[in-house]
Amino acid sequence: MKTSIRPFDQPLEPRAEWDTPMFNLAQNQFLHAAELMGLDENLRDRLLFPQRTMLVSFPCRRDQYSEVETVFGYRVQHILTMGPTKGGIRYHEDVNLGEVSALAMWMTWKCALMHLPFGGAKGGVRIDPSKLSRPELQRLTRRYTLEIFDMIGPDRDIPAPDMGTNAQVMAWIMDTYSLQVGHAVNEVVTGKPVVLGGAQGREEATGRGLIYLVKEAADHLQLDLKGATAVVQGFGNVGRNAAIYLAEHGTRIVAVSDVSTGIYNPRGLNMVSLVEHVEREGVLKGYSDGEEISNAELLELDCDILIPAALQNQITEDNAARIKCRILAEGANGPTSMEADAILAERGIFVLPDILGNAGGVTVSYFEWVQNTQEFAWSLEETNERLHRMLTGAFQRTLQRSQRDGIDMRTAALMEGIARVAEAKLVRGIFP
Ligand code: NAD
Repeated sequence: MKTSIRPFDQPLEPRAEWDTPMFNLAQNQFLHAAELMGLDENLRDRLLFPQRTMLVSFPCRRDQYSEVETVFGYRVQHILTMGPTKGGIRYHEDVNLGEVSALAMWMTWKCALMHLPFGGAKGGVRIDPSKLSRPELQRLTRRYTLEIFDMIGPDRDIPAPDMGTNAQVMAWIMDTYSLQVGHAVNEVVTGKPVVLGGAQGREEATGRGLIYLVKEAADHLQLDLKGATAVVQGFGNVGRNAAIYLAEHGTRIVAVSDVSTGIYNPRGLNMVSLVEHVEREGVLKGYSDGEEISNAELLELDCDILIPAALQNQITEDNAARIKCRILAEGANGPTSMEADAILAERGIFVLPDILGNAGGVTVSYFEWVQNTQEFAWSLEETNERLHRMLTGAFQRTLQRSQRDGIDMRTAALMEGIARVAEAKLVRGIFP
């Protein structure tokens, strides 16, 4: 691989390092909110870039012993002011520094909006996990953990699952970390298997939390969820659980999709047989009780509730005018561009923005960390009751700010988070 060294007389623009569409989106959302709230310029500039960034390249030995692949991994900590940092680890073939940094920044606002004692972080490895065998995935995870070992820790930075990772991956991270320090450290990750101290209900918390919020939004809009219709993009951890809990309210799930295809059935899809099919086949493709549609068509279906729960950048200026839902409930991070936001606002679509919509995951992760540090486990009922209380509280704070200041829900949620971080930064002061 060729490398080029920038001539010394050419200054490095700080943003060139992070210059990707997703980081630009996160920064521009922040700048928009900062301007409306009159945030101090010095503070604004401090919050615009991550405080710590680690980029590693490391070897991953394939099952064919002689094949060794060099892969890239990241861990980014956006703000260290609020307490330890917290954020998921993503395995995906498109992961890059800008994407991980955007996700870390959103985690900061999300934790602050939820009043959790964490700053935002995120990690990722640029690899397609579906192409790895289980032993390959385990070796990759253990080596990545060692590469970022100095950055993480139960009082420093606590990873969790995100796209392409799960409870098993968290168990391998916990094991690798524990072997290094010489004793079991369950609280170094959240979203673990329950037998290792994982919180009851963590796995489904993001989807469950999103539906708690959809219920609040529906009540606000006087929409009865019983008999309403919904469309869900993504049928992984977040999308699948959101669809299941929404169906329990009597809402008809008319379409779902994953990376393989979309499935549409205007009479409503049967969640039990759909989940059985995906557990058996791995993907939605081949499900017979509905017709196949593309992901692009799915987003534009007529429905009351649209849930993007897969990738970023799905609702843009190209399709926003054709989105027909009443509530856009964002399970994924960064699914909507700023141009699309403006179009949706003009059309009166109620948006549950990502930093609120998917905050159920990090909230139950926080519960898990609290339980681990106290060596005490809560019941599922207690977890869900506390989750409900915290999410509905954040919803009301956001709605009130949105109504008081005449701004959209995303900007209101961002302002709630930014204001709290700014206040903490000011009282801590600057060293020296
Ligand atoms: P996952 O890996 O469990 O599932 C992802 C789903 O998206 C899969 O069904 C996959 O097939 C589908 N998908 C992938 N590419 C697609 C494409 N091009 N078109 C349509 N579908 C596609 O991931 P997840 O944990 O459910 O995460 C989904 C989103 O939710 C991500 O944006 C993630 O950052 C966000 N999120 C997850 C959590 C969590 O607790 N897991 C918490 C907060 C936010």
